[in-house]
Parts: sequence; C-alpha cells; structure tokens
Amino acid sequence: MICIFCEIAARERAARIVYEDDRVVAFHDVNPQAPVHILIIPRDHISGPLDVDVANEGIIGHLVAVAARIARQEGIADNGYRLVLNQGRDGGQSVFHTHLHLLAGRRMTWPPG
Ligand code: AMP
Repeated sequence: MICIFCEIAARERAARIVYEDDRVVAFHDVNPQAPVHILIIPRDHISGPLDVDVANEGIIGHLVAVAARIARQEGIADNGYRLVLNQGRDGGQSVFHTHLHLLAGRRMTWPPG
C-alpha cells in the first residue's frame, strides 16, 4: 500500500520540508489549520500512536524535541504552540502514518473540536 508520508520522507513526493534528520522529517501541512501548521513524522512507517510500544517509543520523544527546535526556528516558542497526535476515526486521523501536528500563530481553544 502506498503511504503518502513515506513518499514525502523518501522525497518521492513534494512537500515544504522545514527540518529532517536520520529519524524524522518535518514539513508544512498542505491544509493548515493555524498560521503555523507543521507535521513531524518518523521516517519509519508507524501507522498511528496505537502502534507505539516499548520497541519504538523513543521516536515519540524525538518528535517532541524536534517540535521544540522548530518552534524556536519559526519564532513561535515564546507565545506557545499546540502538539497533537490523532489516532483512528474518533481521533480524527486521516493519514495512517504517525505524525505530530505542530500548531501555532493563534490562540488555541479548549476543548478541541
Ligand atoms: P490527521 O487528520 O491527524 O491524520 O492529519 C493528516 C494531515 O495531513 C492533515 O492535516 C492534512 O492536511 C495533511 N496532509 C495530507 N496530505 C498531505 C501532503 N501531501 N502534504 C502535507 N500535508 C498533508
């Protein structure tokens, strides 16, 4: 099955990449929900947060660390930002390759929609 985020990580599909290293790739969301909306994905295919376990849990910490790095890079660290991981239908997941949403540039509301 073709995974669009695997394709972006492999640079087989265009994306506005803002950061990458040996474990993750970060790029602008194609349909931004805030002035800053960046997705940070593991290079390895992990379908969703439900597939994180003791064998691969370290990657989640790295996604959060990279989000902090990008926040400083993008000038949004001081005002703050929201990180979101969606799982499954009720979680609002539409792409089944784990991705951390980094949202910023406006005041977020709570509860989320
Ligand atoms: P989720 O609903 O949590 O699965 O989030 C998937 C996100 O991926 C959505 O915000 C989409 O706008 C975004 N998206 C889908 N395809 C692409 C793409 N080719 N490039 C960048 N973002 C994408």
